[in-house]
Amino acid sequence: MRRRLLCLYEALLTRFGAQHWWPARTRFEVVVGAILTQNTAWGNVERALAALRAHRLLSPARLAALPAGRLAPLIRSSGYFRVKARRLKTFLAHLNGRYQGSLDRMSRVPLDDLRRELLAVPGVGPETADSILLYALGRPVFVVDAYTRRVLSRHRLLPRGAGYEEVRAFFERHLPGDPRLFNEYHALLVAVGKEHCRNLPHCEGCPLRFDLRGRPPRR
Ligand code: SF4
Repeated sequence: MRRRLLCLYEALLTRFGAQHWWPARTRFEVVVGAILTQNTAWGNVERALAALRAHRLLSPARLAALPAGRLAPLIRSSGYFRVKARRLKTFLAHLNGRYQGSLDRMSRVPLDDLRRELLAVPGVGPETADSILLYALGRPVFVVDAYTRRVLSRHRLLPRGAGYEEVRAFFERHLPGDPRLFNEYHALLVAVGKEHCRNLPHCEGCPLRFDLRGRPPRR
């Protein structure tokens, strides 16, 4: 399985090239972006981040000092902005209260403990927690999203309807625990999902078609 997964990875990398994720200027921006991107397209998040940047608010202390009622309109473009303002404030209260606003300090906690801790913060689900762990803190956690599940299911690598933890564990069990590999692999799965593996698969010309071995993708 390890060989097969690495073959898929190589095929994606050859076709799409390095994706340079996460598209953010600082680790703190990654964290904010990971919370804002829930249920919305990245372009909408970029506009919200630009507004926060323009107001010089992209630091744990400044953002924490801003009342949620003033934060919400600044992140309006990201959708569900009142909910997301509260979620950001809750996360910041955790980061500032426990780690004095330092992602460096947070990153020293053992991985399993830190993942459990992040998942206990209200508004932080598995994809958000793992995005923070991988893309902000460089920890070897595989981020799973709808594209990932779809590709794996269509290629019969996992049962249809496999849950988040099952998919994450599958990658982490079969691949070397290298954050750079996980970083790039996830980004490449998003790339193939957007270009080929949409609601209806466009297998013609897809770099992963070889792996279907002549069979149609599983529905
Ligand atoms: S589009 Fe087809 S070949 Fe490409 S990843 Fe999806 S199922 Fe596989």
